[in-house]
Amino acid sequence: MNEVTEPALRKDVPAIEVRNLYKSFGDNEVLKGIDFHVDHGEVVCVIGPSGSGKSTLLRCVNRLEEPTSGTIMVEGVDITDDETDLDKVRTRIGMVFQQFNLFPHLNVTRNLTLAQIRAKKRSKSEAGEVAARNLAKVGLKDKATAFPAQLSGGQQQRVAIARALSMDPDMMLFDEPTSALDPELVGDVLDVMKQLAKDGMTMMVVTHEMGFAREVGDRVVFMDGGVVVEQGKPDDVLGNPQHERTKEFLSKVL
Ligand code: ADP
Ligand code: MG
Repeated sequence: MNEVTEPALRKDVPAIEVRNLYKSFGDNEVLKGIDFHVDHGEVVCVIGPSGSGKSTLLRCVNRLEEPTSGTIMVEGVDITDDETDLDKVRTRIGMVFQQFNLFPHLNVTRNLTLAQIRAKKRSKSEAGEVAARNLAKVGLKDKATAFPAQLSGGQQQRVAIARALSMDPDMMLFDEPTSALDPELVGDVLDVMKQLAKDGMTMMVVTHEMGFAREVGDRVVFMDGGVVVEQGKPDDVLGNPQHERTKEFLSKVL
C-alpha cells in the first residue's frame, strides 16, 4: 500500500467543534459568535432563512472561508492555527454543494478517481475499484463511463456524493444538496444521504428538507441573523419551537 498515512481518528473529541465564531465580509458581520458542534456519527441538520449564515458556517469548517475570530476544531485539530496542515484536514472532510461541480470533460469514473490518485496517491486501478464501490453505493454502477451532461441533476449529485466518499472522509458536509434539483429527483439523493447516515457517517447538513431533518437528523440547529437561535432534537425544534423567530421561520416552510 502506498496510500498516504494519516494519524488515527480521535473519537474522544467532537468531530467538529466551533467556539465563538465570528465572520465578517467587510462591514457585514455574518456570523456573530457561533457555538456549534457535531459528534462522531451524529447527523446535524442546520436550518434557517436565506442569508442567516448557514453556508458561511459550513465553509468555515474546512476554511473555504477564513474566520474573523473564534476557534474551529476538526477531530481535535485547531484549523484556525496557522501551523495546521489544512490539506491533511480537508482530506477527512467530504463536501457536497448545491451545484454539483463535476468536471464536465471527465467521465464519471475519472471524476471519482482524479483526487484519489492526486491527493491519496492511489494507483489508477485501486482508485477505480474504490470508485466502482462508491458508485454502486449511490445506485449508479451503470453510469461509470457516462459524462456529467448525460446525467440528470439527481444523478450528478449522487456522483458528487460518491466522489466525496471515494476519499474515505470521516465526515460529510452538505450545503443544500437538493436545492437545485427538480422535485422528482430530490428523493433519490435524500435516500442516499439517509443510507449514509444509517451506516454511521458523521454529517452536517444545511437543508430546507424538513422531512429529512426530522427523520434522519439527530439534532436540528436553527440559525437566524448569524446566531444559533435554538437547537435540539428534531421533534422538539420542529414540532415545539421555543423561540418566536423559529416559529415564524417554520410557519413559512412547513
Ligand atoms: P445562507 O447560506 O444562510 O443563505 P450565507 O452564509 O450564504 O447565508 O450568507 C450570509 C451573508 O453573508 C449574506 O448576507 C451574504 O451576502 C454574505 N456573504 C456570503 N459569502 C460572501 C462573500 N464571499 N463575500 C461577501 N459577502 C458574502
Ligand atoms: Mg447557503
